[in-house]
Amino acid sequence: MLTLAATATHTGSAAGMIILILAVVTLGYLAACMIRPFRRCRRCHGIGRRRSLILRVGRTCRRCDGNGEHLRTGRVAINYLRELHDKGTPR
Ligand SMILES: [Zn+2]
Repeated sequence: MLTLAATATHTGSAAGMIILILAVVTLGYLAACMIRPFRRCRRCHGIGRRRSLILRVGRTCRRCDGNGEHLRTGRVAINYLRELHDKGTPR
């Protein structure tokens, strides 16, 4: 009986630790998105041009429009929430 009580206490602590770790990772990712909002395009590896499959002709990357970089997913979410907040604020 004493062992079960100790096990129950240990499980609650582990769940709290997991929530704490997830919160730290999430806040760290959001901070990274604020500091460096762009990431390198995975399709063209940051070059902005790709070779076509059939003729191997160099063309502008359609995914990044030739910029070679993308907005990070977290930054897209931050921009969406900021726009939503600005629309809802009366002026
Ligand atoms: Zn690209």
